[in-house]
Amino acid sequence: MLSPSKLITLGIVLVLVWFIFRTIERRNNVTADAASKAKKSTTVEMTECAVCGAWVDSPCAEKDCPISG
Ligand SMILES: [Zn+2]
Repeated sequence: MLSPSKLITLGIVLVLVWFIFRTIERRNNVTADAASKAKKSTTVEMTECAVCGAWVDSPCAEKDCPISG
């Protein structure tokens, strides 16, 4: 039979395992969010100018482009 002290130890071990698993899971989510945000920022900020065809921050940053004046 399991003694109460062994049951308590088992419970503590289970809580520790759950806590470690949750910490790792949260860390993975944070890194995934950062990666997706970085990917989004590069794709969102760069747009192709309809006039000169250059990939620039909107509005067009090309000096020769008629849009930038
Ligand atoms: Zn342009």
